[in-house]
Amino acid sequence: MTSPTPATPASGPTVVIVGAGLSGLRTAERLRRLGHAGPITMVGEELHPAYDRPPLSKSLLLQEETPLAPPSLRAAEKYAELDLDLRLGVRASALDPTERVVSLQDGTKVGYDQLVIATGSRARQVPAWQHHDNVHTLRTFEDCLSLRADLRSASHLTVIGAGVLGGEVAAAGRVLGLKVTLVEAQPVPLERVLGVELGGSVAQLHRERGVDVRLGVAVERIEGEGRAERVVLGDGDVVETDVVVVAVGSVTETSWLDGSGVTTTDGVLCDEYGATDVPRVHVVGDAAVIAHPGAPAPLRLEHWTAAGDTAALVAHNLLAAPEERRPLTEVPYFWSDQYDVKIQGLGIPSPEDRIDVVAGDVAAHSFLAICSREGRVTAAVAMSMPAPLARCRKAVAEGADLATLLQLAPWTPKKKVDA
Ligand SMILES: Cc1cc2nc3c(=O)[nH]c(=O)nc-3n(C[C@H](O)[C@H](O)[C@H](O)COP(=O)(O)OP(=O)(O)OC[C@H]3O[C@@H](n4cnc5c(N)ncnc54)[C@H](O)[C@@H]3O)c2cc1C
Repeated sequence: MTSPTPATPASGPTVVIVGAGLSGLRTAERLRRLGHAGPITMVGEELHPAYDRPPLSKSLLLQEETPLAPPSLRAAEKYAELDLDLRLGVRASALDPTERVVSLQDGTKVGYDQLVIATGSRARQVPAWQHHDNVHTLRTFEDCLSLRADLRSASHLTVIGAGVLGGEVAAAGRVLGLKVTLVEAQPVPLERVLGVELGGSVAQLHRERGVDVRLGVAVERIEGEGRAERVVLGDGDVVETDVVVVAVGSVTETSWLDGSGVTTTDGVLCDEYGATDVPRVHVVGDAAVIAHPGAPAPLRLEHWTAAGDTAALVAHNLLAAPEERRPLTEVPYFWSDQYDVKIQGLGIPSPEDRIDVVAGDVAAHSFLAICSREGRVTAAVAMSMPAPLARCRKAVAEGADLATLLQLAPWTPKKKVDA
């Protein structure tokens, strides 16, 4: 076992980032951009440098040629500029905040002045189902390759869970020409984010594209010898299948923090600056339970943009004087591509919100809806209306008066009048 790497405060604090995905990379990039000259070590369990996950459930499932490498978030030749001690293919296994040391699974230890937790989340597994070869979850590039291979020899795909990921995989299955069954235990897909009417529109979209959508019914068991052959539903129906995707959410990668004193709930709890309750330890990305503007309580968002926003926040706060630290101000944003439809959301809607469809047509899967509470805008949701949605960003950020926002109509961009 090697001794801990000594911290070298001469050129700035030694920052150790655990997790070499989107939020870890963005933290390192931002630290360098802000002028941090001290050592940065980045530890990642996967063998690949940071790559982009959204294409794994979209274009990479559809493209004809098998991808040879994941879609990189930073060109290999540009890593040198970051001057990182990049340790890939090794997992952090423990944190000792008293000694300020992270233990790695290969027996080495890394000392830090400042630690950033960027370990994200992994797909929630259902052990009773996962032993079948053709039952997949989707989080990593390898998951994507394995699913791609099965999809190409399959004729019937069953997707369990009609959240954003499940909807994307179901859509990919239809585009590839498969028979697709989408099973969701809740009566409406994405109800928490979109509400009943708009969530219903997502179910309708899949039905129109030929998906057999089963709502309000749980999966009882998966049957088959070695490979899944049948999915048995709670209502007694049996779905014959030859590939299954389990898309029932994610769990944060926090087990390596057990016993460290860092408070974990469904993620790593932090204050508005991204600092955990253990000194010199911050958290970014999918793992962070943090106060987002407009949210009634700290929460964990698995949004691509939130990973970058929290990374920028923590990089700033790590280097800032205490009085110059800032909270997160960026409005939460997510998107999902299903078929030729882009679903987007700004802000944090709540089931109690009033929803006004202010443009387009829900039935045509092309609309803009504004969510509000007590006359103040809380969120905006759109299908296939990216530009009008973008025009709501300021109103959502400011919790603007609903009546004022509605005056922005018509939502199509105003034509420039030539002088
Ligand atoms: C298939 C898919 C599609 C998506 N599509 C969209 C989309 O369309 N729109 C959208 O807004 N968001 C989307 N997302 C979400 C978005 O990709 C995530 O929010 C983002 O990847 C979070 O980045 P992160 O760095 O926090 O976590 P991750 O990307 O998960 O990176 C964390 C890294 O830490 C590593 N790690 C974990 N534990 C340890 C440990 N103990 N030691 C060392 N390393 C460790 C992991 O192996 C991983 O490489 C999608 C996600 C997936 C999986």
